[in-house]
Amino acid sequence: MTAGGEPSPAVPPPPMVDCAVVGGGPVGLLTAVLLGWAGLRVSVVERWPRRYPLPRACTIDHEALRILQAAGLMDDHADLFEPSRGERGGYEFRNGDGELLQAIDWNRPAESGWANTNGFHQPDLEAALEGLATATPGVTVHRGWTFQSLTQDREGVSVKMTATSRPTEVTDVRARWLIGADGANSPVRSQLGIEVGDSGFQADWLVVDYLPLGEEKWSAFVTQYCDPAQPATAVNSGPGRRRFEFMRRADTTVEELARESTAWRLMAPWGVTPETARLERHAVYTFRGRWARVWREGNVFLAGDAAHLMPPFLGQGLCSGLRDARALTWRLGMVHRELAAPTVLDTYGPERTGHVREIIDEAVAAGRVICELDVDRAAARDAEMRKRSRDPDAAPLEPPHPRLGEPSLTLASRGVDGRLAPQGRVRVGGRVGLFDDIVGGGWQLISRSGDPAGLLDGQDTSWFRRIGGVIADVSGEGPVHDLDGTYERWFTEHGCEALLVRPDFYVFAAGAHSQIPLFVSCLRQTLQPTSTEGE
Ligand SMILES: Cc1cc2nc3c(=O)[nH]c(=O)nc-3n(C[C@H](O)[C@H](O)[C@H](O)COP(=O)(O)OP(=O)(O)OC[C@H]3O[C@@H](n4cnc5c(N)ncnc54)[C@H](O)[C@@H]3O)c2cc1C
Repeated sequence: MTAGGEPSPAVPPPPMVDCAVVGGGPVGLLTAVLLGWAGLRVSVVERWPRRYPLPRACTIDHEALRILQAAGLMDDHADLFEPSRGERGGYEFRNGDGELLQAIDWNRPAESGWANTNGFHQPDLEAALEGLATATPGVTVHRGWTFQSLTQDREGVSVKMTATSRPTEVTDVRARWLIGADGANSPVRSQLGIEVGDSGFQADWLVVDYLPLGEEKWSAFVTQYCDPAQPATAVNSGPGRRRFEFMRRADTTVEELARESTAWRLMAPWGVTPETARLERHAVYTFRGRWARVWREGNVFLAGDAAHLMPPFLGQGLCSGLRDARALTWRLGMVHRELAAPTVLDTYGPERTGHVREIIDEAVAAGRVICELDVDRAAARDAEMRKRSRDPDAAPLEPPHPRLGEPSLTLASRGVDGRLAPQGRVRVGGRVGLFDDIVGGGWQLISRSGDPAGLLDGQDTSWFRRIGGVIADVSGEGPVHDLDGTYERWFTEHGCEALLVRPDFYVFAAGAHSQIPLFVSCLRQTLQPTSTEGE
């Protein structure tokens, strides 16, 4: 940017990088940061000279915050997020009369060490991610360049781009890998001819973001007003911000729904008026559930909205994109450093697509509940929800995050493998904090029954440390103290003593303490390292 805030003339990306990322949205920027830290030279190419100024995502879950923690973002930017804690920290379903049908308590501890759900303002997160990306060695961000086409050979990808404001100015980039993080209409996906699956769900919703001028007392963090006369959602969208969403009814056109006067009219029953609030923006979106059938073609990968789209009722679109970034970048980083064979890249698509398809299905199912316009069916739904909320044995409304899809890079461990692993608060010497910050992220070998290193031979220990592994004895006898009993509870719940966690926080293997050498040797075989440096 120039001093006056105008975008600088577009600087073209360098002709040769390890990885080109198309799309400078949150997923592309996070991907670049994580790859830069892994030692790759990365160029992000974004067609627009300025960041998208309007909010889309407004809630983010505990797992996504752990991913942002791994990127170093939470050190300076934790205040961007408003945690769902306290008596107004839940997820509620109410009917047209305002009667509470079901409530999900979000005050219970979430696995990843952060609040279950957190309100935030997407433009602030993107600004923080872009600042981090430009400060990361090896990463450059090139705004004002539009991806046009690609060709592939065995060694890599040749990419053609044009300056967005001067389409005759063409530049070519050669990269070992290319990541299409270029949003829902993904030109990269189209170039590859990848087919898109569709859930068949479709609904138009008006999204209204506003700044309350006084304090608002909401009963919950998120409320779904399941009113067949006007389905609506109210969300705490980060410090000082609120959002309402309203479904389009058959008697309203998209044009009518998109008017500012409609936004004020629909918010008035909640006391939100020009006297009590400042409108930040309003826009109509078509909510859908879609997914790319393939996430990889040769050396080109898809991530984020380019790979999946879902109605935002569970607040999982961006969270899923951040998971893609973490899952892809640890693999690319290891292959780049010859710590793993390129075959580890094969499981990226199947693992992620299996996981996200379940979330899309859940979001679509929630949408079908919330978007019911038929009065009789809505009454039957309300009765069913009331019944469920009184039944202590009914399945919880909010299931745990799904398991990774198959084939996955895991070792069968009585159903625990491929599930999200916990992060607890620990104390090591005089240092107190979250495990990843105090002990380390990357591969984690944790036991509650003694020092895992005591069971490993020197070669396995040095290999594990070389791939970025950390080893922790949380029994209380070793240096790592499990301050809140997070690990103890997790091991007890899953009937095991030892755990090997992947860099994306999913369980590679879990079992008895004595199985630790088996976990490490299986991991070694799975990664099939091609380099013997340091052995
Ligand atoms: C109303 C609404 C509410 C939502 N709420 C939530 C929520 O609460 N929680 C949640 O987790 N998610 C939510 N989401 C989803 C979330 O906003 C998206 O999943 C997320 O923004 C996707 O990020 P991305 O980086 O994959 O794609 P994008 O942010 O779309 O970025 C893609 C980038 O690629 C660029 N690009 C495209 N084509 C080219 C090209 N040819 N050359 C160069 N660059 C190109 C685009 O300009 C864009 O900047 C919501 C979405 C909506 C619409």
